[in-house]
Amino acid sequence: MNRLLRITRITASIVFFLVITAALTAAPLAVPVVAQWTEKIQFLPAVMTFSLFIFISWLIITLVFGRVYCSTVCPMGTLQDITACIRLRLKPRDYRYTAPANNVRYITVFIVLGCLMAGVFAVPSIIDPYTAYMRMCNDILAPVYGFLTGSAAEPPAHMAWQHNVAVKAMTGWTGTSIAIITAAIVAGFSARRGRIICNTVCPVGTTLGFIARFSIFQIDIDTDKCTNCRRCEYVCKSCCIDMNDHVVDGSRCVNCFNCINVCPDDAIRYTSRRKQLSIPMMQSLKDLKRVPETTLDSGKPATCEKSKHNDK
Ligand code: SF4
Ligand code: SF4
Ligand code: SF4
Repeated sequence: MNRLLRITRITASIVFFLVITAALTAAPLAVPVVAQWTEKIQFLPAVMTFSLFIFISWLIITLVFGRVYCSTVCPMGTLQDITACIRLRLKPRDYRYTAPANNVRYITVFIVLGCLMAGVFAVPSIIDPYTAYMRMCNDILAPVYGFLTGSAAEPPAHMAWQHNVAVKAMTGWTGTSIAIITAAIVAGFSARRGRIICNTVCPVGTTLGFIARFSIFQIDIDTDKCTNCRRCEYVCKSCCIDMNDHVVDGSRCVNCFNCINVCPDDAIRYTSRRKQLSIPMMQSLKDLKRVPETTLDSGKPATCEKSKHNDK
């Protein structure tokens, strides 16, 4: 069941990616109604157009299931997965847990919020993943499509801040240059560091991640079954599985389910009945309660009991 989740997730992300790319590259390639629908459910454009229903729906979905938006609907997320996958085929690499760059994450969100409230749309339009992806399709893929088919490149049907003067100025060579630079940055970072952009500079990822750490369904490690082989950590493109403490940072997990797929002991699951808490501070308190007082008195670290188990 857990492994079926990964196949479903990959299928959904590919469908969304192809439909959105087709819609943004050339209108004749996509069914208009479906294309409009996939655009309307994008997070930040929904905020910009005051689509309260879409905005609240994503908050509720994230609170229940985690960052499903990032694993299926966002085309920039799927683009990063594709480049990371290509890099893996050429040169395999193992991911390792890294501490979250919370300062960068929250500063970016505050900058974007400040710009939106001040009516400065140029900065958010560069950072917003959907608008950035739209620019790539519109300024890179569409001209190529037009050249190959002999037709004129068509502008995107909808853009949350297209009426803004500063954004309108980003056309022609300016728009193409921004699109190429964005594509190069995304490809370069995702090939080397997986979802590093998602978990540092993306304001949508930070916002949804803040909610996802409290979501009902989360990735959880069963320490009774775990043999500490670290395979899950090596395939986690969000670098959010901390095998030293056996915790998963729910705010950075993008629900890709790669970890579940590789675990030989069925010890890591997507579940609502978690054994581990996703907040490291609470996890430490929980561990301390588990360890017998004699262990604490002897001065051994609180993780001794777990290590003994994992050495079996
Ligand atoms: S974190 Fe941002 S760029 Fe990454 S998948 Fe989510 S919305 Fe898209
Ligand atoms: S913990 Fe990592 S590998 Fe597992 S679902 Fe989350 S992001 Fe994917
Ligand atoms: S892959 Fe499974 S057994 Fe191996 S470290 Fe991860 S949870 Fe534990």
